[in-house]
Amino acid sequence: MSDATTGKNLRINGERLWQSLMEMAKIGATEKGGVCRLALTDLDREGRDLFVGWCKEAGCTVSVDRMGNIFARRPGRDNSLPPVGTGSHLDSQPTGGKFDGVYGVLAGLEVIRTLNDLNYETTAPIEVVVWTNEEGSRFAPAMVASGVFAGVFDEEYGLTRKDLDGKTMGEELKRIGYAGDLPVGGRKFGAFFETHIEQGPILEAEKKTIGIVQGAQGQRWYEITLVGQEAHAGPTPMRRRKDALLGASRLVHEVNRIGLANQPYACATVGLMQVSPNSRNTIPGKVFFTVDFRHPDDATLSRMDAELRTTAQRIAGEIGLQLQLEQIWYSPPVAFDKKCVAAVQDGAQTLGYENMPIISGAGHDSCYIARVAPTAMVFVPCEDGISHNEVENAAPGDIAAGCNVLLQAMLSRANAP
Ligand SMILES: [Zn+2]
Repeated sequence: MSDATTGKNLRINGERLWQSLMEMAKIGATEKGGVCRLALTDLDREGRDLFVGWCKEAGCTVSVDRMGNIFARRPGRDNSLPPVGTGSHLDSQPTGGKFDGVYGVLAGLEVIRTLNDLNYETTAPIEVVVWTNEEGSRFAPAMVASGVFAGVFDEEYGLTRKDLDGKTMGEELKRIGYAGDLPVGGRKFGAFFETHIEQGPILEAEKKTIGIVQGAQGQRWYEITLVGQEAHAGPTPMRRRKDALLGASRLVHEVNRIGLANQPYACATVGLMQVSPNSRNTIPGKVFFTVDFRHPDDATLSRMDAELRTTAQRIAGEIGLQLQLEQIWYSPPVAFDKKCVAAVQDGAQTLGYENMPIISGAGHDSCYIARVAPTAMVFVPCEDGISHNEVENAAPGDIAAGCNVLLQAMLSRANAP
C-alpha cells in the first residue's frame, strides 16, 4: 500500500488543535490561567455543548448514554465494523489546567477534522468519546462513568453518586440535558486510544516527546490507627511512654524506605495524619494516617503490602501500641493491549519523535476501558511535570506531536481491523 492509502503521509493541524484547546479553556477560566469546570455544572454543559457543536460541524453523528458519556462518530467504509475510539474527559479539578482530559478529547476531534480535510475514508468508523466525571472531584469516585461503561460499577451506583450538597449525578445529568438514552456499555470498540499530558516529570527530564504508555500502576490504599496512651509530657519518663506519634513517625519512615527499595516504579506516600489529642504538652495517645502504595507489577505490590504489615506490627510491638491496619482500596495494575501499544510505538517511530516506554502513575478512563476493548495511551510532556494545578502547561509542538501519533495509531487500527 502507498503512504497515501495507509495515511502515513497525513499530519494533523497543530494550530487548529491549539486554538480549540484555548477556546475550550475560556469556559471556566480562572484568574491564574487555569480552568475550573467541575463535572455536570453549567460550565461542564457549556464545554459539552461547544464540543458537540464542533463534532456536528465536522459531520459526526452524536449520541449520549445514560451516564452522559458522549460518542461522536465519523463513518467508515464498512460501518458494520466496531469503531476505533479515542477520547478522555472535559471536567476538571477545582484548580485544574487547560490540558488534563481536554487534550484527549480535542485531539480526537482534530483527527476527525484532519481526515475530513483530506476526504480520507477509513475502513472502520472513528469515534471520539467524552467520559463523564473522570476527576471524581465533585462526585467521588473518579472515572465513575467509564467505570460503569466497563462494568466495574453498576449504573444505579453511578447515577446515585452525590456531591457535597446532596445532588446526584443522575439529577444533574438531567438538569444539564445530558442524561442520554443509550444503555451504558456493551458498545464495542475495535481499539481505543487516549492522548494525555503525562502529569509527571519523566518525559521532560528525559527530553522525549512521546511516552508510549505500557499500562498503569496498581494501587493499594490503607488506613492505619495506632493507639498508645495519653500522658503528661512532664512527669512521664521517656521509658514509660506509649507514644502513638512516635510509632507513626517510624512507620512513615518505613513507608518511604519500602518505596525506595522498589525502584524504579514504586511510589509510597503518607499524605494524611490526624494526631490526637494534638496538644503540645500531652503525649499523643492516638494517631490515624493513610498509606498510598503504587507499583505496575502486582507481585511487587503484594510484597510491599506484606512488608508494610510486618513492619507496622514490629513497630507497634516495640512501643507497646495497638495497631489497626486496613486496606481500604485495591486497584490492580493495568497492562495495555500489546497491538495497540505497538501501534502507538510505530506511529512515534514513523514520525521520527523521540519516545520512551512509560507507566502511568495516575488513573485514567482508559484504565477501565482496557477491560472491555484493546486499549493504549499516548503521553506528551507537561511543563515541570505539574498537573491538577492552574499553571499546568504544555508546548504546542508536543501537543501536536501527540495528536499526530494518535492519528497514525488510529489509522493503523481502523484500516486493518
Ligand atoms: Zn485526566
